[in-house]
Amino acid sequence: AEEVMIRSEKMSIAGQLAAGIAHEIRNPMTSLKGFLQLLQAGVNHKEEYYKIMIDEIEKMESITSELLFISKPMTNSKEWENLPELINDVMTLLQQQASLKNISISQEGSDRLDVNCDRSQIKQVLINILKNAIEAMDDPGTITIHYYVVDQMVVIDIIDEGPGVPDDIIHRLGEPFFTTKPSGTGLGIMITKQILNRHNGDLTIMHNKKWGSTFRMTLPWSET
Ligand code: ADP
Ligand code: MG
Repeated sequence: AEEVMIRSEKMSIAGQLAAGIAHEIRNPMTSLKGFLQLLQAGVNHKEEYYKIMIDEIEKMESITSELLFISKPMTNSKEWENLPELINDVMTLLQQQASLKNISISQEGSDRLDVNCDRSQIKQVLINILKNAIEAMDDPGTITIHYYVVDQMVVIDIIDEGPGVPDDIIHRLGEPFFTTKPSGTGLGIMITKQILNRHNGDLTIMHNKKWGSTFRMTLPWSET
């Protein structure tokens, strides 16, 4: 009986994900069809419609590319990487987006901390969490990336000065397609958790004392 139950539970998770994907893709398609029909009928405001249609297509593009990332098998490509270098790369990538909102990003930690990991996957994790931090902050401020080793674990804290995650939704973060953003995909935290778990690490979300939240990532540490 136990076996049957496990199997049906697995099915329902796949089913849930499939239903989510269908829903997320169907909505933009419905709206695309509607706008195409309007254009076919020869309406004015064409420029406006084109813009909306491009937005909808971009939304579908980001959903499909994030889903492709999930379905990629975990290749065994772990190498020793210097964490502060990975963090620097990611900071460079997101620098423009941050400075547009007058947000500065600072890193605190030693110049050298070797971690055995898949470089591109851990970069993806850092991008997902840092992007969320930037998106959460409406006012100028600082995002701090603090990394250190404790109890044989590498800890990376990304500390923002946004409004924080409301208590009533904090448990839903990481659920596929859960988003509070108008054009969010709701896949970033799910992918982040999955990558960290594949590395035998974890993600914890905490409230800061004053304001904002801390997303804490852990990875196993061992001497080079
Ligand atoms: P998306 O960014 O596409 O919405 P994510 O999985 O990355 O999807 O995040 C899910 C939700 O978690 C966000 O929509 C937001 O409500 C919440 N969230 C994530 N990071 C933060 C943060 N730093 N501060 C406040 N809320 C956050
Ligand atoms: Mg996100």
